[in-house]
Amino acid sequence: MYDTNNVFARIIRGEIPAAKVYEDDSVLAFKDNTPSAPIHIIVVPKAGYTSFEHFTRTASAEEIGHFFKTVGTIAKQLGAEENGFRLVTNNGPDAGQTVMHFHVHILAGEPLGGVLGRRT
Ligand code: AMP
Repeated sequence: MYDTNNVFARIIRGEIPAAKVYEDDSVLAFKDNTPSAPIHIIVVPKAGYTSFEHFTRTASAEEIGHFFKTVGTIAKQLGAEENGFRLVTNNGPDAGQTVMHFHVHILAGEPLGGVLGRRT
């Protein structure tokens, strides 16, 4: 169930401030307020989807296509494409998703190290 009072919904409605780096009719991107890298951007669809799973199951192909194309545009706008960047989306509790509004993290600006957690 989508909670319309989650923090990203409130940012989208302009109720709490965010350092925006990109905005169009259906996508918003802003700086993560607890960055994990020198460049750490959160990209969200403005419509209310709880998770990657919810978004890809219920949004239109056009909306999904526009969203991910825009993630690429933003990464380029950040100047991150030459040295590289990482995309992360946490989906659900085992992945540690804390804000239940679908979002993609763009991380860049330094060597980011390994990402694949090993269980053994
Ligand atoms: P996740 O753990 O994948 O759900 O990521 C949530 C992210 O949202 C974390 O990296 C937080 O630092 C970030 N965050 C939470 N509140 C805010 C806020 N008000 N402005 C910007 N980023 C936020």
